[in-house]
Amino acid sequence: MGIKSFSQEKCIAGCDVCIEDCPTDVFARDPETGKARAAYPEDCWECLLCEEECPGKAIKISPAAARKLWYPF
Ligand code: SF4
Ligand code: SF4
Repeated sequence: MGIKSFSQEKCIAGCDVCIEDCPTDVFARDPETGKARAAYPEDCWECLLCEEECPGKAIKISPAAARKLWYPF
């Protein structure tokens, strides 16, 4: 599952927090808009870091997948 949704509208141009912090480099900056985009969503580990740190609340990670990661039993 991984990334449930990503809002280009909510993303803040030039922020780059998710691009810098994602451990698997899922995000890349769009050179035209200066905003992030999910360039490699298949590499998401569902660590929730981007969802928690995004100042624009632009990223939603799959809750079911995240629960499975944190509570595997
Ligand atoms: S952390 Fe959020 S606001 Fe910042 S670049 Fe990523 S999606 Fe955009
Ligand atoms: S949940 Fe973690 S691995 Fe997945 S895109 Fe966000 S920061 Fe990257």
